[in-house]
Amino acid sequence: MNMGLHGGSCGHACCLRIQDLSVKIGNDTILQDINLHIHCGEMVALIGPNGAGKSTLIKTILGQQPYEGIVTFSVPGQRSRKAKIGYVPQSPTFDIGDSVSVADLFACCMSRRPAFLGQSAAMREKIMECLERVRSENLIDKRIGALSGGELQRVLLALALEPLPNILILDEPLSGVDVEGMETLMDMLDEIRKTYDLSILMITHDFSMLARYADQVVLMDRQIVRQGSAADVLESEEFRQVFHRKGGTQ
Ligand code: ADP
Ligand code: MG
Repeated sequence: MNMGLHGGSCGHACCLRIQDLSVKIGNDTILQDINLHIHCGEMVALIGPNGAGKSTLIKTILGQQPYEGIVTFSVPGQRSRKAKIGYVPQSPTFDIGDSVSVADLFACCMSRRPAFLGQSAAMREKIMECLERVRSENLIDKRIGALSGGELQRVLLALALEPLPNILILDEPLSGVDVEGMETLMDMLDEIRKTYDLSILMITHDFSMLARYADQVVLMDRQIVRQGSAADVLESEEFRQVFHRKGGTQ
């Protein structure tokens, strides 16, 4: 855990606090007793087996899931300002027609002007700036349907970064990406969080990246069963039990 930066305390530098959170769907308790603090500038990895409630926790943070408990966002030094959240969903599928380009998609999200009217020069420049953040200016006129998995992911990341959030949340961004692609994406996320001073919360099944990139690893199985540095969590009895019981790494 990156204790040095904030001394491990949750004073002014705490961006997201979840206290005593529980989620029930029907009679099923999906999440229970979740207490989690994410400090500003921190990269937090959320791990756990399939069905552990990881995506549900993210939906709760995004305000898409009813819950009991307290979820608080804040921007340090600006008590009254709510933190902005950027979100990159898990393997999205697009069914938006063949002719829609990356520029059209950005323009739809950024202005009310209908996509078929094309973009003004100023809007096109703004879209270029967004794509520059993920080094993908070359994709501006590509059709969405023609993007590779990695390219689509970078475009969605660029969308999540406009307007710049305080917290960036990604649901399994590394699934289906090869090792080289993973390192490229993790390096990019690491650079983005330093450049724009934002926190990142990421669900991942790839544990090999944790030691190098994550300040804090949170192991979940409907509740938080272990939380700490990558080494602490990956070498814990709880980690062994959770994944051994389920018979695999997923
Ligand atoms: P994870 O992302 O860790 O794989 P999820 O948060 O997607 O887990 O799901 C956790 C549990 O909650 C699963 O058992 C899933 O079946 C259940 N669940 C999630 N969403 C719903 C829903 N809308 N209705 C009923 N059960 C749900
Ligand atoms: Mg999930």
